[in-house]
Amino acid sequence: MNLSWIKPAERIQKLPPYVFARLDELKAKAREQGLDLIDLGMGNPDGATPQPVIEAAMTALQNPANHGYPPFEGTANFRKAITKWYNRRYGVVLDPNSEALPLLGSKEGLGHLAIAYINPGDTILVPSPSYPVHFRGPIIAGGVIHNIILKEEDDWLIDLTTIPDEVAKKAKILYFNYPSNPTAATAPREFFEEIVAFARKYEIMLVHDLCYAELAFDGYQPTSLLEIPGAKDIGVEFHTLSKTYNMAGWRVGFVVGNRHIIQGLRTLKTNLDYGIFSALQTAAETALQLPDSYLHEVQQRYRTRRDFLIDGLGKLGWNIPKSKATMYLWVKCPIGMGSTDFALQVLQKTGVVVTPGNAFGPGGEGYVRISLINECDRLGEALQRFKEAGICYQPEAVVTA
Ligand SMILES: *Cc1c(COP(=O)(O)O)cnc(C)c1O
Repeated sequence: MNLSWIKPAERIQKLPPYVFARLDELKAKAREQGLDLIDLGMGNPDGATPQPVIEAAMTALQNPANHGYPPFEGTANFRKAITKWYNRRYGVVLDPNSEALPLLGSKEGLGHLAIAYINPGDTILVPSPSYPVHFRGPIIAGGVIHNIILKEEDDWLIDLTTIPDEVAKKAKILYFNYPSNPTAATAPREFFEEIVAFARKYEIMLVHDLCYAELAFDGYQPTSLLEIPGAKDIGVEFHTLSKTYNMAGWRVGFVVGNRHIIQGLRTLKTNLDYGIFSALQTAAETALQLPDSYLHEVQQRYRTRRDFLIDGLGKLGWNIPKSKATMYLWVKCPIGMGSTDFALQVLQKTGVVVTPGNAFGPGGEGYVRISLINECDRLGEALQRFKEAGICYQPEAVVTA
């Protein structure tokens, strides 16, 4: 039977190819060939969920009260734990009933927010490179993406002056994310003040992804959008337990901020899902109440890896600035080589998986992202293989003696 009439909707057909899926195929092939892969491609933390969180989940699992459908808007206790954490961490007071909403991971919320707010043809401002759901969500919703191309010379910060006045006037949402995946860039508080003033002036909803709220080093503390006066009138901020607490598989995140924006997302979700398993919401409360010593341990682990890899890549010709946050290095491809070619070459010659920068949009071309999701011994093995395969960075013309 000819099944060519079974076609996904245009909103699916319009999506650019998902580079991670293609990467998965190539990884499978490399494995078949017997390569010992070192996967530094995904943003999947390699550590275990903290023991107190696991114990809280096991206890909650034994309670039949947790076995039914959870409340649509999340459990009252988890919402209270969220706003308490937020107040402790940022000194911002939020109403647990209207200004905090648990999510099945922040990716779910970021994507659904686009569907709740974007009409076909709406202009959406998205930095490039950015985390894929920041542009894929709006594309699925039928939005027209205006890419704000980020540049190394601007420290990967959004230069708001490059957004034409007529684009800003019609734009509905601006997505952004600092500390950034994939560039590992951080933004000073003044930047947040500027972007809030910009969004208020042009009446644009601000969607900030603060997924790396706690993965910061060297005394740096990431800024929350909601710390900025006036931000709560026009913005929301997404958080996740995936990265800080090694809970990526548990699917727990939340959004905080403007109650009207959150209400639209809640209405959509009420029609699509039932939220997080109540037992896991109880466990998530425990995660948000862990002592800071736990955070320091996690931060120390990533900081050590960051320093180790930056040092090793330095010996191979790369000059990579020390990022103050995230679990990534954003690494320039050798001159004249594109992201895909370089990532492929690295995979084929060394079995090391890195993510081509163009997976994060056109602004990521010319870079690859390396995730710090292996211990230093494996990172050292990766560096050794780079060395043996002649993978290196030569800044300009090579001068031979
Ligand atoms: C990992 C990541 C997410 C996804 O988090 P989940 O809560 O696991 O869905 C969202 N945004 C950014 C920038 C990320 O790096």
